[in-house]
Amino acid sequence: MSTQPTLPLASRTADLVGSVIDSSTSLLASQTHDIVRFAMGSPAPEAIPTEALAEVGRQALGVGASDAYDYAATEGDPPLREALLETLEGTSDATTPERLTITAGGMQGLDLGFKLFVDPGDLVAVESPTYTNGSATALSYQAQLLEVPVDHEGMVVEHLREEAARTGRRPKVIYTIPTFQNPSGATMSLARRRELLELAQEWGSMVIDDDPYGMLRFAGEELPTLHELAAGSPLVFSVRTFSKIIAPGLRVGWVDADPGLGQLLINAKQAMDTCTNLPMQRLVAGFLRGGYLQEHLATQRVQYRKRKEAMQEALTEHFGDIARWTDPEGGFFLWVTFEPAIDTEALFKIALAEGVAYIPGNAFSAEGRFPDALRLCFASTPPDRIREGVRRLRAAVDRQRAE
Ligand code: PMP
Repeated sequence: MSTQPTLPLASRTADLVGSVIDSSTSLLASQTHDIVRFAMGSPAPEAIPTEALAEVGRQALGVGASDAYDYAATEGDPPLREALLETLEGTSDATTPERLTITAGGMQGLDLGFKLFVDPGDLVAVESPTYTNGSATALSYQAQLLEVPVDHEGMVVEHLREEAARTGRRPKVIYTIPTFQNPSGATMSLARRRELLELAQEWGSMVIDDDPYGMLRFAGEELPTLHELAAGSPLVFSVRTFSKIIAPGLRVGWVDADPGLGQLLINAKQAMDTCTNLPMQRLVAGFLRGGYLQEHLATQRVQYRKRKEAMQEALTEHFGDIARWTDPEGGFFLWVTFEPAIDTEALFKIALAEGVAYIPGNAFSAEGRFPDALRLCFASTPPDRIREGVRRLRAAVDRQRAE
């Protein structure tokens, strides 16, 4: 053949958008100079409980443990399912075996949720700003997105009603990150949680309740999860992950969904990956059974509070005159908005040269609503380095203004 054939791509590939967040992992990996990394939402290297994991791993995955390397049950390996059910007992995410499916992290939970409920052209409400990978997953099933503003009480649920009244269209799926939202750090108030569930009930819309940070509260009052408030309503599909509370590289999470979905959820997962990585399920099961999680979380909450405070102090010192930012009570992220506006996408290159990385605001809105904002992860950097990073960020802003 003399000419190169064109690829016979599926039409849905037109709706596949990349993740600026994920791409920053490889971009930063290729940099050789010193960079303060506020970009990725990963726990700090020193927050990974490697000692406990090594000990558990020697037993669960070591010599003689060949069964840990086989295929596993699609719904999850029994030891992990049991350990997880026990861990969740008495918490707002307490659940029952028939509702539980172990997944490859939160992302697979989201993929399953959107796959099961979104047809091409369906309206999916997302927070604005929202977690890029979540909205990208909805888009990959050819959803049409409705961006709903977020304020200090989380998604402005009233806006959903107003939009539906204005356009005559109700979203089939509402995707929310109710607690310590990525990227804003905002937490949906109890009143809004109730309002959202009432609305979903009235409209028959699915709520995809993506709550990876809920166990990382370091200030304020505990709130019931949407899962708990829904009290078994089939309309809430809850997505959880061990990525932020143990380690993201494990790629282990879970979905808590209506048992009425029955075989559908299993069928969808079987068509994706047969089962979740069994060695990592055994490792997580051993970690939970060994009783390591609670102590680990207690330590991390203290660290994250200190880091958030260090970041806020540094922001007050360097950005008090030109920006405002959110005040999260847990989780990993702060959201900074510049006043007067600064083009944070253009700023990124200068910031990288100055030795600091973040995610530009527009990464969190398919409509590009946040050109003047940025997300900072405070969780993965010790306080001294946080202060240095924020200082470098201000130097970058000054350089951009001078150019
Ligand atoms: N949802 C949200 C809100 C997240 O922040 C993340 C991770 N950044 C995920 C889902 C995905 O979790 P995982 O890494 O376990 O796939």
